[in-house]
Amino acid sequence: MDAARTITADNPEPATKDATIKAGDETSRVTPMMEQYIEIKAANPDCLLFYRMGDFYELFFADAEVASRALGIVLTKRGKHLGADIPMCGVPVERADEYLHRLIALGHRVAVCEQLEDPALARKRGGKSVVRRDVVRLVTPGTLTEDSLLDARSNNYLAALARSRASAGEDRFALAWIDISTGEFRVAESDRAALAATIARIEPGEIIVSDALYADAVLAPTLRGLPALTPLTRDVFDGATAERRLAAFFGVATTAAFGTFSRVELAAAAAAITYVERTQIGKRPLISPPLREAAGATLALDAATRSNLELHRTLAGERRGSLLAAIDRTITAAGARLLAQRLAAPLTDAAEIGHRLDSVAVFAADAARRNDLRARLKSAPDLARASSRLVIGRGGPRDLAAIRDGIFAAGEFAARLSDLPESPRDIAQVAQVLHRTDVALAQELDKVLADELPALRRDGGFVRPGYAPALDEARALRDESRRVIAALQVRYAEATGIRALKIRHNNVLGYFVDVSAQHGEKLMTAPLNGTFIHRQTTAGQVRFTTTELGELESKIATAAERALALELEIFERMATAVAAASATIKDAAEAIAALDVACALAALALERDYVRPQVDDSLAFAIEGGRHPVVEQMLAAGGGPFVANDCDLSPPPPPYPSSHAGEGGEGAGRIWIVTGPNMAGKSTFLRQNALIAILTQTGSFVPARGAHIGVVDRLFSRVGAADDLARGHSTFMVEMVETAAILNQAGERALVILDEIGRGTATFDGLSIAWATIEHLHEQNRCRVLFATHFHEMTALAGKLPRLHNATMRVKEWQGDVVFLHEVVAGAADRSYGIQVAKLAGLPASVIERAKVVLAQIEAEDRVSPARRLIDDLPLFASARPAAAPPQTDSALAALMDALAALNPDDMSPRDALEALYALKAQLAKGKL
Ligand code: ADP
Ligand code: MG
Repeated sequence: MDAARTITADNPEPATKDATIKAGDETSRVTPMMEQYIEIKAANPDCLLFYRMGDFYELFFADAEVASRALGIVLTKRGKHLGADIPMCGVPVERADEYLHRLIALGHRVAVCEQLEDPALARKRGGKSVVRRDVVRLVTPGTLTEDSLLDARSNNYLAALARSRASAGEDRFALAWIDISTGEFRVAESDRAALAATIARIEPGEIIVSDALYADAVLAPTLRGLPALTPLTRDVFDGATAERRLAAFFGVATTAAFGTFSRVELAAAAAAITYVERTQIGKRPLISPPLREAAGATLALDAATRSNLELHRTLAGERRGSLLAAIDRTITAAGARLLAQRLAAPLTDAAEIGHRLDSVAVFAADAARRNDLRARLKSAPDLARASSRLVIGRGGPRDLAAIRDGIFAAGEFAARLSDLPESPRDIAQVAQVLHRTDVALAQELDKVLADELPALRRDGGFVRPGYAPALDEARALRDESRRVIAALQVRYAEATGIRALKIRHNNVLGYFVDVSAQHGEKLMTAPLNGTFIHRQTTAGQVRFTTTELGELESKIATAAERALALELEIFERMATAVAAASATIKDAAEAIAALDVACALAALALERDYVRPQVDDSLAFAIEGGRHPVVEQMLAAGGGPFVANDCDLSPPPPPYPSSHAGEGGEGAGRIWIVTGPNMAGKSTFLRQNALIAILTQTGSFVPARGAHIGVVDRLFSRVGAADDLARGHSTFMVEMVETAAILNQAGERALVILDEIGRGTATFDGLSIAWATIEHLHEQNRCRVLFATHFHEMTALAGKLPRLHNATMRVKEWQGDVVFLHEVVAGAADRSYGIQVAKLAGLPASVIERAKVVLAQIEAEDRVSPARRLIDDLPLFASARPAAAPPQTDSALAALMDALAALNPDDMSPRDALEALYALKAQLAKGKL
């Protein structure tokens, strides 16, 4: 095992590194069991060791201290080691999952060490012999399979990050990610700039990197904030052996069968597989061959945009209130996972998006079929996770039942799809896959499984009576003996005259005769002491055995053991059959999930009155009567109506404004500047349009009367620092760094949402930055933009930039109060209504009155707005065309812009960035602004 540590905020240091735990020193004084423990612990220094002793997993030494603190369980002692007490704590095996869950959530890794033989066998070898034990599995955050450790409705990925160093130019990176609970396996290349965005999309439960990457200062900001980061030695990421390791895992001669992979992709994929093998120790989980994601196949959304738009969770970290929660009408867990995946990675191929929309449309139009399917989906089990557990040897009887029910359900779905008048491509595929499931396997499972199933196979009793004659025989013998015991109890009670005499059973004594203390004496004196042999006296009870009882007991035990062994044999056989059919089972699981998603999105569309968007490769962005999917539902719950609004960022139709014809004014999308007072609805309007684009490319209908969207390839959404309430310590610096990222990356197909950028600093530099940003977006990036600002001076820009459009939130003044109509109309806000808003907020009347006087005074003095002057004096954005020489007229501004454009925030340390900012400000001060 490699030295691997999981570092988290809670656990900055490796779990245990107790220098006193070393096999070898003074072993003569160490018990054989401790010796075994120390040896196993030494092989797994980076994990908490769950050491199986009977019905408990025990932890010793520093592990015990860590675990008792983390779990709030009692720390005790057991014997001595090198003269000192050995700290110990333990968790009962039955409740181990619960404790594991908590330890994993805290970022610990756990090595589960089992007894590999019956303790009786060890005893036979001699008094000093220790039960054979070894680690059977490492439990880490990214390699979980148990339902109790997982969220049913989300994926849990293990990601591996590999780098290939380039002698010249940029290093290349690749990410491979596996969900071992469902078998999904993907790999994608990435450059450094996109790395954080890709990781944010995958949201891995654990990410593994080489020691070198772990120590890399440049990557530290990207990696260190992640929930569980595990560094591994270089060989795991070795490119030279990667292909061979991958091929060996999948049992193929070459990975070429799975597609073409770059060297760095192979390295990442092999690292992920190697880590899975190491943690699962000899068990081969069911993993699909790696699927390569082509660059640009999905809508690029960086981490800031994802969190800002609250796609999967709100800024406060809750699922409730997120876009996903608002649109998720899926019924099955697998459907919920698929919807979350699709929302995390919207498509960029208009035709593929169209196929998804076709599937939704079929079920939107056919209520009867949709309702019928959805009713049936309610009892569809989680086929993917059940089969994964069975294949890896961690399944239970209920997982077998899930396979049975899932296959039967697949058949029913197939039947319900067979008479569709018209099948869109994806639904036809689903139907085809569902037809191919192994019905014979389900029928066999139906014969095998009893009606009531225990959670664990070792509990037995899951095989249906009548299925296996040998099993029935063993059970009959066991049950018969139990009846004999009942009869024996009656006989003993009569013979002794002790009415309350009982025959009971526990794990320590086995079967025993149990009487109260007052009767105990009688059984211990002649003549009864000839039959009854004393075993134990407790507080109130005295316990005995008899020769007859002993014989019966061993008969029962033998029969019960045999019955269980037969059941386990049958279980193994069925698990093997499931493994053999795993490919069609996985396909069926995916098909059912896809069906669930299509029906769920259709149900959503009907419920909330969504329409099918028109999607193509144009640069159109025309939304008629758009609504915010989350705010709308929140308002609906609270009684208020949501005011629908149009938005049109499509390129203006020809002829292009003459001032700009041939200068790049044509063809590109529009920029809308949205002004209006606080609380008027600007932010809501901006976000709803971004969300409609995302929903469209996810393949969902959208909350609007109509929408035409030319595929967006990257979407940026930024909120100015002052407005970014949830991120309390967010600064103007962050805002600028993020704005710089947009100006450097956004191309013509991008959609940019900027909300109150430039607000985090003094008015004039804020306005200047906002101004320059808009010019750059218009002239350089030429992308579709929505820009909300409280600088209404900015609206003057519309006179200069042909694709700029001013929009404002309508408000009414009524008896000195401001009334928000939440309606977006063309034009500019005449003022910000700050005083009216302040009044609404309950500022004292005297303050409001005084503010009005001050405002009147300022307005009187400042007749000619500075922005008006600006627009007249300032030439257009200086670097409109990279090739063109910067105009001479305002070299200060041009220089400032160049300096801003030259910044690459991803490459800057916070200190560099701060210094750059000071330099920019100094430059600004030198200019003639
Ligand atoms: P701003 O960004 O202009 O300060 P917000 O977008 O934050 O305003 O909106 C303020 C509040 O107004 C929202 O919380 C929402 O409740 C309400 N609101 C916004 N847009 C609408 C709308 N179109 N219809 C109804 N209520 C809206
Ligand atoms: Mg706002």
